[in-house]
Amino acid sequence: MTSLLLRNVRPMAGANCDILVKNGKIAGLGRFEPEPGMAVEDGGGAIAIPGLIDAHTHLDKTTWGMPWHVNNRAAVLRGRIDFEREHRTEIGIDPHRQSMRHAIGLAAHGASHIRSHVDIDTTHGLSMVEGVWKTREKLAGIIDIEIVAFPQSGVMVMPGTVELLDEALRQGCEVLGGIDPCGIDRDPKGQLDALFALAVKHGRPIDIHLHEVGDLGAFTMELMFERIRANGMQGKVAISHAFALGMNDYLRVGRLIEELAALDVAILTTGAPSATVPSIMRLKEAGIRVGGGCDGIRDTWGPWGQPDMLDRAKVIGMKNGLRSDNDLAHLLSVVSQGGADVMRIEGYGIAEGCNADFTLLTGETLAHAVVDVAPRPLVVKGGRVVARQGKAVVDMP
Ligand SMILES: [Zn+2]
Repeated sequence: MTSLLLRNVRPMAGANCDILVKNGKIAGLGRFEPEPGMAVEDGGGAIAIPGLIDAHTHLDKTTWGMPWHVNNRAAVLRGRIDFEREHRTEIGIDPHRQSMRHAIGLAAHGASHIRSHVDIDTTHGLSMVEGVWKTREKLAGIIDIEIVAFPQSGVMVMPGTVELLDEALRQGCEVLGGIDPCGIDRDPKGQLDALFALAVKHGRPIDIHLHEVGDLGAFTMELMFERIRANGMQGKVAISHAFALGMNDYLRVGRLIEELAALDVAILTTGAPSATVPSIMRLKEAGIRVGGGCDGIRDTWGPWGQPDMLDRAKVIGMKNGLRSDNDLAHLLSVVSQGGADVMRIEGYGIAEGCNADFTLLTGETLAHAVVDVAPRPLVVKGGRVVARQGKAVVDMP
């Protein structure tokens, strides 16, 4: 395992010190002299934070590095789903090559962990998951990838999908996904009963995409709460997007937040500019675990996004109307510690005994670094330097 002495950094923008790494863990913060043969780096006084976490993305979808994808289609959810499923092969979106590009881009920008939803459907079976699995193996030691078995095209409207999800969990996908039980499936009881039964059978957590807005999304959340209680799945369910929490009904949202807190349901937000989104500060007050994600970047759904969690923090911050330095520092924690809380990553943090996964940021303060989408001069994973000045030690295919 790796040893490293990283000199002259400011953990969490605090006092200047050195970080000593031994056996892939942080052995101490303070002043140290290098041991014989130990690698030494000078941090140049930069801020050091734990690895950024993209807790909601889609590694199998991006067209990153491919010819520009011309998109003049109407922005209807069902249409986007069907177009992608029917055309992804002819467009040439190879799930292994494209997930390599996406994940290496994230690592180059300081991410240490990814939770990726990966499409599973009756047209492509588990082939997308297999492609991302290959990427996970190739990038071991550079970035950790957790896979959500994701029924992008629906569950009940696509007979055979439940069996594919069952097989994906049997083969080792860590998390079970779901999508709009009302809006996509028109059968909320059917989808949610099937998902919770699979999750219990395999002992896996659930992370469901919920784009449903307003009362419809609130209704779906209530159906989820019932099933969390019935199946004892407190602390094991996450809701991605949760656009219903952005609805303009303070009391109704408050009651939903109380239930989220009581059942320890996590929320993942991407700050979707085109939708109503949950207030990260209101969720913080309620003590709810909240992580952030880039979601799909530059794919057949839309042209926006970068493989960069600081860029995403800026999007989430602007969407949430954040201004104060304290709120901006919390924003940075959503795309780092928050993701670790949702994914239950052990040993995460920047203290003695934690995993040596960290990134350096230029800037005076945490707020300054977020607003600047600050350069990342050095990224360390497991005590090993994996990127310098925004360039990873592995090349994109
Ligand atoms: Zn998504």
